[in-house]
Amino acid sequence: MTNSWVNWAGDQSCTPASIAEPGTPEEVAALLAQAEAAGRTVRVAGSGHSFTETVLTDGTLLRLNKLNKILSVDRASGLVRAEAGITLNAASNALHPLGLAFPNLGDIDVQSVAGATATGTHGTGAKLQNLSAALQSIELMLADGSRVELNEQTDPDGWRAARVNVGALGVVTAVTLQMVPSFVLEGVETPEPVEDLLADLDTHIDGNEHFEFYVFAHSPLAMTKRNNTVELPEQPRGKAVDWFSDVLTTNYAFDALCRLTRRYPATIPYVQRGAAYAGSYRRQVERSYRVFASPRLFRFTEMEYAIPREHSVDAIREIKEVAKHYDTPMPIEVRWVAPDDAFLSPAGGRDTCYIAVHQYQGMDYEPYFRACEAVFDRYNGRPHWGKRHFQTAETLRERYPHWDKFAQVRNRFDPKGRFSNEYINRVLGPVG
Ligand SMILES: Cc1cc2nc3c(=O)[nH]c(=O)nc-3n(C[C@H](O)[C@H](O)[C@H](O)COP(=O)(O)OP(=O)(O)OC[C@H]3O[C@@H](n4cnc5c(N)ncnc54)[C@H](O)[C@@H]3O)c2cc1C
Repeated sequence: MTNSWVNWAGDQSCTPASIAEPGTPEEVAALLAQAEAAGRTVRVAGSGHSFTETVLTDGTLLRLNKLNKILSVDRASGLVRAEAGITLNAASNALHPLGLAFPNLGDIDVQSVAGATATGTHGTGAKLQNLSAALQSIELMLADGSRVELNEQTDPDGWRAARVNVGALGVVTAVTLQMVPSFVLEGVETPEPVEDLLADLDTHIDGNEHFEFYVFAHSPLAMTKRNNTVELPEQPRGKAVDWFSDVLTTNYAFDALCRLTRRYPATIPYVQRGAAYAGSYRRQVERSYRVFASPRLFRFTEMEYAIPREHSVDAIREIKEVAKHYDTPMPIEVRWVAPDDAFLSPAGGRDTCYIAVHQYQGMDYEPYFRACEAVFDRYNGRPHWGKRHFQTAETLRERYPHWDKFAQVRNRFDPKGRFSNEYINRVLGPVG
């Protein structure tokens, strides 16, 4: 194993004093004891799909990819116990033959269950909460190797803190998930005029189980995606069709165009208009997780904010306007989720609109993202914990009504700050 770690985007890396891949909770406990003896801090890596510095450490880095088993399945209740390092895709593949599925997923499903839930990862669907809502119970290992089982009954505050924990409480070793019966989705993608969508936005959001769209600064068209459950047999696309639509057109062709714009920024408006027109009609009828997620084969970085749903239209217009002033070929992505009650959930306590902005690898993201953040700040935006932002504990505290309760739980579970790093100290403050 190499002695360095790098995230998926390739723009966050570290050289920890030690990197380990424990295969059992007992091995995790032994590694925590070694870290304690050496006075090292500890971070856990999931699949490395966060854009922030959240995983980085010069202490001990634990990779939980070997803690990846399904431990038990109750088909009648849909309750599944799994080790924390299992990926969403591996869990979906293992559970589909048993008739179970995640109620919702984001754009990709290669994240680990613990990593995805730690940052409040979400899909889209105004009546559906983020992925952490599927958690029913969490096994958390503390710095001394002891394990606590957190759920609504055992420790209500610990439970609400652990569901979106940013890796700041300890090592999540296992989770119980509430799955739903497997379902087939019809996914329909069409380009539509942005202004038509914004004129009647609630109808689109509430009239579909899952509605989202991408919009480019320089195009009047949005690329919409509507996913709804259907009582139809799956109509799997051939591998060649998959390759053509997901890999060639969505990934390689767009990647090539992005490279062109990086070299010749003046081409950005033309590329964006062309890409929006090219996003032609596409229909898929497949098992849910194959419709929700698709491959992302080119690299970029991203910022995403959760704002109150009622500001959707104004904020989308403002971000689209801001994006016109910066060199980026990438689109703006808009999604909606239902409120939940995890202390640090960006969607906590409010119907939420998520707006994400992206920058292609190797292009300057900071001025653009800072300008967007200024807009999100005015809407009391809360950043996605796994995506770039420039906030600190000082600026975030006011935006989370239960901020102090999370801090109390953190002080209780990790009083010495064993699970902190620079990012955690910046965004949550030091323990104590
Ligand atoms: C191409 C791409 C598409 C994406 N699409 C979406 C999307 O549709 N919706 C969305 O909301 N987000 C999306 N994201 C963001 C991504 O879902 C989150 O950043 C997620 O946290 C990554 O999960 P991971 O397993 O890679 O965890 P990592 O990024 O490795 O870790 C995330 C956090 O979890 C902690 N952690 C991981 N495992 C444990 C554990 N066992 N115990 C304690 N702490 C742990 C880490 O320390 C870190 O703080 C996307 C990211 C990329 C790169």
